[in-house]
Amino acid sequence: MTSIRAIKGFKDILPGETELWQSIEQTATIVLGAFGFREIRLPILEKTELFARSIGEATDIVEKEMYTFTDRSGDLLTMRPEATAAVVRAYLQHKIYAQDPVQKYYTIGPMFRRERPQKGRYRQFYQINAEIFGVASPYADVQLIVILVELLGRLGVKDAKPHVNSLGCPACRPDFRRALLDFLASREDRLCSDCLRRRETNPLRILDCKVPRCRETSMDAPALEQFLCAECRTHFDTLQQALDELAIPYFIDKRLVRGLDYYSRTTFEIQTAALGAQSAVAGGGRYDGLVQTLGGPDIPATGFAIGFDRLAEIVAADRQATTAVPDVFIAALGAAAQARAFPWLTALNRDGIAADMLFEDKSLKSLMKRAGKLGARHVLIVGENELAQATGQLRNMATRDQVPIALNRAVAELTRHLADGT
Ligand code: ATP
Ligand code: MG
Repeated sequence: MTSIRAIKGFKDILPGETELWQSIEQTATIVLGAFGFREIRLPILEKTELFARSIGEATDIVEKEMYTFTDRSGDLLTMRPEATAAVVRAYLQHKIYAQDPVQKYYTIGPMFRRERPQKGRYRQFYQINAEIFGVASPYADVQLIVILVELLGRLGVKDAKPHVNSLGCPACRPDFRRALLDFLASREDRLCSDCLRRRETNPLRILDCKVPRCRETSMDAPALEQFLCAECRTHFDTLQQALDELAIPYFIDKRLVRGLDYYSRTTFEIQTAALGAQSAVAGGGRYDGLVQTLGGPDIPATGFAIGFDRLAEIVAADRQATTAVPDVFIAALGAAAQARAFPWLTALNRDGIAADMLFEDKSLKSLMKRAGKLGARHVLIVGENELAQATGQLRNMATRDQVPIALNRAVAELTRHLADGT
């Protein structure tokens, strides 16, 4: 019988990797906490309509990547492909804006997109999301970029440079859209079939196409920056001045339009060469119209999403895989020794000491072999003789030194010796 494997594009994160994931999550939580963000935890399943309305019908995600199904009562549901829509939904549903529209949230969890699986691209992947509601100022966008730079810096990612752009607003974007369509009119034969379709539905996305010929074609396309209205211009200038003031290097990327419909004004992405083709480790931007689109008041918002899997891959590349090594392995020979030692093991574990033991009647030789395999720093040997003399032997595996342990005070003596490092 063939064994069952995980679904294509879905992967396991195994012990050895999870330690790194935990440490990244801890660092993110600390940094976000210091900047005033609080955690929000949301469902993985939402009504399909939430994503169709927010992300936009003419996007890759909604057109072809969502895991959508009807449940037994006929409701159309979707495994969330991103978090922002759900954060906005919660912000509205609980009328949080009525008490105080200014809120800073973060959330960490899995997202689902039915993309072609490859390195750095999975069908279930994880994101660290941060959102700021109720602040129109570009300083909020800058704050998000600062958090990304700070977090990646603390994690030792060296070449993480923010790319920034402005997408304008509903007042000025149509002018750009027209100019872009004019530019493309004479170059139709050089666009891929997706881009030919995007021309009708979502022409800005052509700038974002990954097909080399499309990229080449759009190289000389007009830049959105030249079409910004006065308010958008000031917004973008202030953002740049603030980044300059903070001495954060950045790159103005006129192609950075991002895949979702709801962005306005600031967009940014953190790219790193460490990732190869899947170069974006985080992306985000301002989405001033989304709260209203989802049925709420006119409240500005801005946010980012970090690709956790990609971040973990970069950080893992310069870190050693971690293993969990017991401080002490109790080699208890025979049923009587096992019965005596099990409460000691439990007491040590409860005290937070990494102690381990094999619950099987094995020879001293195979127990020592087990301790060696685990990399145990010490072994407490308790056999028939030791029980008779009420004294076990604690062996330091590195130095081979042995010290006697009075078995009627085993836990206290072990704790003292382990603390001393003897
Ligand atoms: P890409 O251009 O790489 O497809 P995206 O613009 O679709 O990214 P966002 O929706 O902005 O990505 O999500 C933010 C981050 O989540 C990305 O920068 C990336 O690091 C990560 N990400 C997106 N899709 C995947 C995926 N399928 N597998 C792993 N990580 C992903
Ligand atoms: Mg994508």
